[in-house]
Amino acid sequence: MEMQPYGEPSAAARVLVVEDERPLVDAIRVALEREGHVVLTAHDGASGLERALHEPVDVVILDVMLPGMSGFEVCRFLRQRSDVPILLLTARVDETDRVVGLDLGADDYITKPFSMRELMARVRAALRRKGLAQTARLAVGDLVVDPARHEVRCGDRVLPLSPKEYDLLEVLSRHAGRVLSRGQLLELVWGYDYEGDERTVDVHVSWLRRKLREAGSAVRIVAVRGVGYRLEP
Ligand code: CA
Repeated sequence: MEMQPYGEPSAAARVLVVEDERPLVDAIRVALEREGHVVLTAHDGASGLERALHEPVDVVILDVMLPGMSGFEVCRFLRQRSDVPILLLTARVDETDRVVGLDLGADDYITKPFSMRELMARVRAALRRKGLAQTARLAVGDLVVDPARHEVRCGDRVLPLSPKEYDLLEVLSRHAGRVLSRGQLLELVWGYDYEGDERTVDVHVSWLRRKLREAGSAVRIVAVRGVGYRLEP
């Protein structure tokens, strides 16, 4: 399966479920997988925050009532560092929960008990909104990445990129300053079940580096030994 280009809502997303109630996690996982999503899970707030910050995630489903760090705290920390859509699960009908959650930067909330059908509809809505937001242009160092046009400019020069080179540069730009492993890059750019070798990533990175140099850009793609690559603006 080819990954949809960024900027369009993609059918398959990586969804992180942070909830300590295991049977509920299992039910949510089954429903999400049926929709074609890849599911990551965490059973407490601290590990949920860790995964959300260090792995590529498209949507976070976050329970408010968690052992240790509460969902509200996770939401607040995560929002300071990431724009990932956050969908809060709240057990109470209490309106203060909803208001607090939205104040802390959650995108949406759903009150327990809920139907899986309703939860899936909220996830689709979050992905749609994210898809729209992702058409906004990104400025990274001296580059402007334009997802709507699949184009990268350095000053008034358009870089002559192949579609895969563009996708790779866009993914690296969205995570500028953070290391992405070759496996993550393969999955994000070439698709979840791409059979190719991780050297594919190395080859495309070397082509990208040459094109960045030729365009006179100061942006660098740094190899992190044994891990992967990081874009330095
Ligand atoms: Ca819970």
